[in-house]
Amino acid sequence: MPVCHRCEADHNVDELVRHDRRGVLLVHCPTCECLMGRYRRHGDRPEVDRLRDA
Ligand SMILES: [Zn+2]
Repeated sequence: MPVCHRCEADHNVDELVRHDRRGVLLVHCPTCECLMGRYRRHGDRPEVDRLRDA
């Protein structure tokens, strides 16, 4: 279950806020609305860019 790195709330995947932007799916925390992940939709496998690794 994804845990928000900012407010540390954990959420069901179904609860996350999604925004589809030109082939990239942005996932936001439903509690604090920070960006939790970024998924490429045109690749074979979705990958997550975690902000803490940037
Ligand atoms: Zn949060």
